[in-house]
This record gives sequence, structure tokens and C-alpha cells, in this order.
Amino acid sequence: MKILIVDDEQIERRIVEKTLARLGHELVVADNGAIAWNFIQEQQIRFVITDWNMPGIDGIQLIQKIRSSELDGYVYVILVTSNDKNEDIVQGLYSGADDYLTKPFNPAELEARVAVGERVLTLEDHLVRAKNQLEKLAMVDSLTGIMNRRAIYKFARGELERARRLADPISVVFLDIDKFKDVNDEHGHLTGDEALKLITQVIKERSRTYDGIGRWAGDEFLVVLPGTSSQDAEKAALRIVEGIAATKLTLPTGGVLPIHASAGVATITKISGAATLLDDIIQLADEALYRAKEAGGNQAQTTRI
Ligand code: GH3
Ligand code: MG
Repeated sequence: MKILIVDDEQIERRIVEKTLARLGHELVVADNGAIAWNFIQEQQIRFVITDWNMPGIDGIQLIQKIRSSELDGYVYVILVTSNDKNEDIVQGLYSGADDYLTKPFNPAELEARVAVGERVLTLEDHLVRAKNQLEKLAMVDSLTGIMNRRAIYKFARGELERARRLADPISVVFLDIDKFKDVNDEHGHLTGDEALKLITQVIKERSRTYDGIGRWAGDEFLVVLPGTSSQDAEKAALRIVEGIAATKLTLPTGGVLPIHASAGVATITKISGAATLLDDIIQLADEALYRAKEAGGNQAQTTRI
């Protein structure tokens, strides 16, 4: 583990260094608080053993800087000092130190306290990993593996903001499988699920890498096309609709089943003011989709504004 040792007195620093070097840690040393603070920010150090009394930024101030800043991960700090009164220990811990060691210290005790710090940091790593995994899961549609409604909405909101800043167009395609209820009713839910996965595959293959693809609900998909004009979005929607129509779903009983979908396209060419809302664009695409369904399905319609 990379450990930063901070002490203005070389002899004191060496004692800590010698003890920790034996344990195979990678050591970084600083002889004052300002240099230590730079190291912590630049080298992403997560373990600090610091002296209290130093000229300039002292150990307590260094700890307060660490605790009040938004560093990437948790920084574990052991305060090593000759201030050994009870109230000193209390002040040191309240200022944000995780542990406290008084000089002269026993090297075996320093080793043991470093091991405690390593355990805490390992636990933190596990928690961060679990949190990241959960966050990822909360944004993914478990059946198809694409963005779920929450994630595609977030993506669309971000792209809408970007379009507003750059005065770029933005398009959305709302897609709904035709007569999907019949697929479920006649061939079962599992076959329906396979159809949803297959359609996801077609949408992915027929979209650009920077388009966002999400499952909006049930058999509805939303594709967000940043920087795309109405004409190009219409072509993209048609590509997807035709791609789905050309795909056959293999049934478990043998045989194949044709599937179709309809699409509604809406484009905002230039976003004027703050009034353009994401919900409005989605609503326009939904209206176009409704017209596509009314006209018999297996086609794309566009709402022009
Ligand atoms: P339309 O052409 O008007 O869209 O007709 P439709 O039958 O597709 O009607 P609708 O869109 O209302 O039906 C959606 C169906 O999608 C109903 C529901 O059973 C089915 N569905 C929703 N989520 C899932 C899912 O996760 N798996 C499966 N297999 N079916 C789903
Ligand atoms: Mg449908």
C-alpha cells in the first residue's frame, strides 16, 4: 500500500519509514503539511501517517483539509505525536484522525495500527464496488441489457442540454412492437421475451454508437439521436423498422414468426430558450407513433414542428 509519512523532523520520519519499509509498503515522504497536501491530491494517496506539530500547515490542519475536500476515496489518517494528554487525543480524533499514536511508539504497535487502517480501506473498496454495481444495475433493463427508462431519460436530458448549448438538432424515435400481445398470447411469454431481445439487437445494429437506446416500458423502446436532423432521424427509424420486419423469431416448437414494429419520430431543430422540455419531444414522437399504428403499423411517421 502507498503510505505518505509527514514529519518535519528527519529522524522521526526515518523511524516510521524503517518500520513500514520492512512490511513492503510503498512510502512517500513529506517534511511539511503543504507538500503532503500536494502529494495527497496529485498521487491519490489513501493512507497518511502524520506528525502533529509542524511549521506551516500542521497535522491537524492537514487532516481538516483532507476531510473537507472531495477526494476520490477515503483517506485513512494516523496522527503520530508527542502531544499525549487526554484532551490532545480527543482533539486529534475529533479533527478527523482515524487513529492516534504517541511518541516514542513501539514499532510493533505502529505495524498493528497500519494493519487496522488497511482493513478499513479494504472494506471501503468493497463498499464502493458494491455501490457502483448497484448503480449500474439500477440503470440497466435486466431482460435486454440496454438502458432502462430511468437511464434513457437521463441520457436524453443530458443530450438535450448539449443540443441547447451547441444549438444542435436532436431527434427521438419512439418504437413499439406491433400486436405484441398476440405474440405472448399465442406463443407464450418466454417467446415474447426472446422477441424483445431480438428487437433490441436489431435496434443496436441499426443505430450509431453515440445514439442512446433504452427500453421505455413493456414493448416500447426509445432511441435518442443527438445532432440528428429530422430527415436523418426518419431514415434511422425506417432502417430499424425495416430491420425488424426482416427478422424472424425462431420458435421453440420449430418454425419462425415474423415480427413488426412501428416508429414515431420527433426532432427539435433548434432549441429556443428553456421552454423545450424533454417530455414534450417524447410526447411528439408518441403522437407520431400513434399515427403509424393507425395507418396499419410496420412503418415510421414523423411529427414536424
Ligand atoms: P399494438 O400494435 O397496438 O402496440 O398492440 P400490442 O399488442 O403490442 O399492444 P400493447 O403495446 O398494449 O401490448 C404490449 C404487450 O407487451 C402487453 C404485455 O403483455 C407485453 N409485455 C410487456 N412487457 C413484457 C415483457 O417483459 N415480456 C413479455 N414477453 N411481454 C411483455
Ligand atoms: Mg405494442
